Formats: sequence, C-alpha cells, structure tokens
Amino acid sequence: MTLPSFVSGAWWTPADDAGAAVVRDASTGDEITRVSTAGIDLGGALEYARTVGQRSLGGLTFHQRAVLLKRFAQVLTERKAELYALSARAGSTTRDAMIDVDGGIGVLFTYSSKGRRELPNAQLYLDGPAETLSKDGTFLGRHVYTRLPGAVVQINAFNFPVWGPLEKFAPAFLAGVPTIVKPATPTAYITEAWVRMLVETGLVPDGALQLVSGAVPGLFDLLRLGDVVAFTGSASTAAALKAQTPDGVRFMSETDSINASVLGPDATPGTPVFDAFVRQLMVELTAKTGQKCTAIRRAIVPAASVADVAAALEAKLTKVVIGDPHAEGVTMGPVVSLAQRDEVMRGVRKLVDAGGEVMVGSTAAPEVMRADGTVGSAPDGAFVAPVVVGFGPDAPDVVHEVEAFGPVTALIGYDTVEEAAELVGRGGGSLVTSVATDDRSFAAALLPLIGPYNGRVLFLDSVDARTSTGHGSPVPHLVHGGPGRAGGGEELGGVRAVLHFMQRTAVQGSPQMLTAVTGVWHPGADVSEGEHPFRKPLSRLRIGDRIASGEREVTLEDIETFAHFTGDTFYAHMDEAAAAANPFFPGRVAHGYLLVSFAAGLFVDPDPGPVLANYGLENLRFVTPVSPGDRIRVELTAKQITPRETDDYGEVRWDAVIRNQNDDLVASYDVLTLVTKE
Ligand code: NAP
Repeated sequence: MTLPSFVSGAWWTPADDAGAAVVRDASTGDEITRVSTAGIDLGGALEYARTVGQRSLGGLTFHQRAVLLKRFAQVLTERKAELYALSARAGSTTRDAMIDVDGGIGVLFTYSSKGRRELPNAQLYLDGPAETLSKDGTFLGRHVYTRLPGAVVQINAFNFPVWGPLEKFAPAFLAGVPTIVKPATPTAYITEAWVRMLVETGLVPDGALQLVSGAVPGLFDLLRLGDVVAFTGSASTAAALKAQTPDGVRFMSETDSINASVLGPDATPGTPVFDAFVRQLMVELTAKTGQKCTAIRRAIVPAASVADVAAALEAKLTKVVIGDPHAEGVTMGPVVSLAQRDEVMRGVRKLVDAGGEVMVGSTAAPEVMRADGTVGSAPDGAFVAPVVVGFGPDAPDVVHEVEAFGPVTALIGYDTVEEAAELVGRGGGSLVTSVATDDRSFAAALLPLIGPYNGRVLFLDSVDARTSTGHGSPVPHLVHGGPGRAGGGEELGGVRAVLHFMQRTAVQGSPQMLTAVTGVWHPGADVSEGEHPFRKPLSRLRIGDRIASGEREVTLEDIETFAHFTGDTFYAHMDEAAAAANPFFPGRVAHGYLLVSFAAGLFVDPDPGPVLANYGLENLRFVTPVSPGDRIRVELTAKQITPRETDDYGEVRWDAVIRNQNDDLVASYDVLTLVTKE
C-alpha cells in the first residue's frame, strides 16, 4: 500500500508504486509502507493553498484560528495512543513517542492560548506604539504585520514526525497562512496519521493543511514572493534546497547542531549539580536513541572530572535495555533505519579516527531484546549501543563538526572558563548549550561568551535540577533555532513565530487614517461624546467613544488624607522643604496613585451595567507633578475592542489622559476593562 497524500482537498495515491521508497520497521525490517508521489500535481496543491486556503483562513481572526488549534489539540490528545503505536515501529519507546506526540500537542495548546491572550481578535498585528512624526500630531507612523499571501512549504526531518510539522503549522495557521507538509520519508506514515485525524474532524479550513507524502520534484521552481520554505533537516540538504529557492521567498532553516553541555568547576562528584549533569547527559544520550537535533553532542567538563563523569555515566548506562519498543522493559529502541545506523557508525568512526577514545559503551552491534522478550542479535534491526568518546582540551575539529545522529556524545576536558567558552563556540553555532553549575559568577562570565553561538542556553543548578524541562526540550514559549551551523533560523518563541509568516510594514498617515486601517483608535482621530461609554455593551461601543470629565481640585487636605489612609507618607507629599529640594518637584505634590484614583472617580459611571471589571492599567506614566490647588480632568477614549470568541464578554482598552488646568499632560495610561457583548 502506498502512503496517501492529502492535496487540493482530497486524498491522493499514485497509480502504482513503481520507484516507491520502502519504509521498514526499525526493529524488525518488516515493510510498513511505500512512499511515492509519482504523478502528483504539486502546482495544483500550491495554487489550492494560495487560493482556497488563503480564502478560508482569511475569513477568520487570530482568535478564531486559535480556538481551532485547541480543537485540533484535543482531537490528537484523544487519539495519541494510535500515534504512540505507530511511533514504536520507527523505534520509539513510549517515552520517546511522548516527546514527539505530546510535545506536538503541547505546541498546539500553547499557540491556542497565546493566540487568544496575546493577539487581538482581528487580522492585523500592531508592533510597538505609534510614533508621532509631526509637531501637531497629524502625521503618525506605526509598524503593522499583515499575513503573507502565499503558502508555507514545510520540509521536515524524520526524527519528529509529529512535533516537527506541528511546531511550524501552529504559528503559520495562527498567522492565517496555509501549510503544505512534506514529511521525511522514513517516518512519513506517522505524519500521515495525525494529518488524517485532523482532516477527519472536518474542522480544518479548506486548503489550510495539505500533505505531500514523498518527494517534491519541481516544487521549488513554482514558489514565489509571499511563499515560505520552512526546512528542518541536515545542513547539507538545507544548503541544496536554499540554492533552489527563488529570490524573494523566505527560507527558514533549522539544521543539525553540535550542541554542548558544560559542567561547572564547582560541580565536583557528589554534588547535586554533578548528579543532575550526569542524569541529563544520560537522558540526552538515550532519549529517541540520541536522534534529537538538540541532543548533547559534546559534554565539556573540567579536565579533572572527565574520568568521574565517564564512570558515573557508565553506571547509569548499564541499566539501559536496548531492544524492540514493543517488548516490555525496553528503555532504548533502534535508530530509524539501517541506513541511519550505518550513518551513525560512520560518525563514531570519524571521532575515533581523530584520536578519540571510546570511554563508555561499544561500537559493536548490541545484544537486544526482541518483541517476544527473547534476547540476542537482531541483524535486521537498526540497533546501536550508546557510545561516549573522550578527548582532551585540544580535541580536533572533527569533534566540533561531526554529528553522529544517534546515542553518541564526545567528552572533552577543559581548564579555564575561557577555554570552556571557546570549545562551545567551535561548534560553529548551536541550538542549545546547557551549563550545570551552582557558581553564579562562572555562569555570568560564560553567558556573554557563549550567547552569540547559541539559540538557547539552559543553566542547570541545584534549584532547578528537578524542575528543568531539560537540555533537549525546546518549549513553545521560547525561541528554538540557532546561529551558523544550526541553520540561522528561529522557530517557536510564542507570538514571534506567528510573525515569521507575516510581513512587517511601516505604515504612515494621519491619526484618522491609522485608526481606519488598523481598527485601533489613535490620539488625534475622531471621537464621539454622548451617552457614557460605560453604558454601552460591545455591540454598541465603538472605538473613539469618549467621556471627557469635569475638573477636580486637588487640595493639601486630599494629599494628607491619602497619605495617612494608605501609609504612603513619602517626603515628596509631606515635607515642603524636602520636596522642594528634590530636582523634580516644586514643593509638596500629589501622589500619582491619588491622581489615578481621582481620575477613576471622574470618569466612572457607577451603576451596574455592561462594564464588568477593571483588570489593570498599562503604560502608566506620570509627566507633570500636581501641586495643592491644581485642578485635574480626564479624558477616557475607547481605543481597542477585543471580543472573546468563547465568552459573553470581551476586553476594552481605553486611552486615559489626565491634564491640569493649564492643559499640561499630567499622566497617560491605558485602562483595561471587561465588558459584556450585549
Ligand atoms: P535530511 O536528510 O536533511 O532530510 C530532511 C528533509 O529534507 C526530508 O524531508 C527529506 O525528504 C528532504 N529532502 C531531502 N532532499 C530533498 C530535495 N532535494 N528536495 C526536497 N526535499 C528534500 O535530514 P533527516 O535525516 O530527515 O533528519 C535528520 C537531521 O535533521 C539531523 O541532522 C538533525 O540534526 C536535523 N534536525 C534538526 C532540527 C532542528 O530543529 N534544528 C530538528 C530535527 C532534526 P526525504 O526524507 O523524503 O528524502
């Protein structure tokens, strides 16, 4: 049976499987499926994304897309056991499968939640505040993100058939850009399974998600401005594909990386940090049989501790049970294929030939537990034993260049912090480096030296040793990617990743025009005064609706009452001489918080009504001090309205400005309220 693709709104399989790649069970060599795209209409798929997919996603706001992402996450959660079962055939234990499957589902949940909390319920995203470009405020500028008009073509690595495509799909979907997923051949059947699960729900907007199960010949020639290539895989494939990508098409790449983990000089054997370091090293060596782009390829430890680290690691590795993940008790499966096993062994040989000493493990084919529980050799399975290869500080370049993509790590000794940093940097740019130390000055000295060479740095100390998510786990909240050899790209990182699929444009115009094109009120744009805006539910409230208050005098008695009532008797409010000696105040002045409280008293409409709650202030600035006898007034203008998709209310951001009797700006801030829809 040839693995289907899902293109142009329908499932598709080639007429025959001539020339198809055969995908086999990693433990037994049994055939699982065949992969071929002979005869597929890739141009049609691309056009379907650009037309149908763009239209269906373009009809939704960020929040509506975010709600769908949560539904997708729920569907996959209900069916994750099926994905674990398929992953076992690729060599994954349940722990390995959870990294990929639950990790991918977690990305969907996180982007759903961030989309609803951090993006507006709209289609544009505003970046930073408006800039005033003319003295009288009639000419403004602002950065605005709009979604790209094309398709995202994802090319994925074999080792994360669920998490890999989903960590790109979630932000692209949220941005409103359709995705075409091309999984790597050896695990394409796992990607096909989750795509099918989502398609079966009927919830995926037409054209928003397509799947090409196999090669994509000629596709790159059809790409154009507005499309994106999001690649994950080896550096050599990245270079070849980048060269094929037409000018103007965004090319994001996440490639292999010779990640490092540094043990601090304080973390000697017997300390909790030493134990945490070894535990982490052990996890990174064996999880997914070392087939993680973020795995530790170089453990950089004080020269005096090299033997101790090797011994501690050896003690742990004796407990590893290598075998078919279908057998009870197996803790490490095979790598994905025999070809991959041979590739790993070639990498190990390069390390040994360059002078490395096999300190732990063996390069011989291991005895393994078979699916039926018997132990012995398994020539058709892609099994590799964990290997640790030791080097001194003068480790040859090969150590910093060869990624043996399996359970393999090099152990390198160092003497000084500078030497440790230099060794990290010789990786040529990494996805992640972890540093295990309780010595905060060592960590502080290291960060500026290794930061430029890493996409992520994790400090492991005795405080977070138990709670850390680990060296090898990118989290959706933080960026994943790395400079140089690691591909130079960036993924995840919350809303940052959504913006990779949008174009930032500096938009200039009058306040009226910026208000009209962004849907957010800008100072100087038209306002409407009349019925108190706190009487209006979202169905009637409009941006620009304003309440302008009358004046209120601020007396010395007010200041003293407030000071004694709150306990804030800071000298600037209480002591005329001391206040006058302060460079900012003419004498005693009102508390900023008193002014904000008076302002609320001036603008509020007290009766029960559509406004449910005040949930905060943002961007509060006190500008001109208020002296006893000054009079203040406030203007409150509806600035941004964000109805919630799944509630009967929404958020209203109000522009608040307090001025004194001379029209000087006293304070400005945003008031955040929750308001009913009806
Ligand atoms: P790979 O051999 O470079 O393949 C990656 C993808 O490129 C596969 O989908 C492959 O498809 C495709 N591909 C190859 N030639 C192509 C062509 N001419 N046109 C279009 N697509 C083409 O990498 P891999 O062996 O799958 O994955 C392992 C590597 O990925 C490791 O080096 C690992 O470090 C890296 N990786 C990096 C990250 C990261 O986030 N930085 C994450 C995971 C993995 P086929 O399989 O169909 O050939």
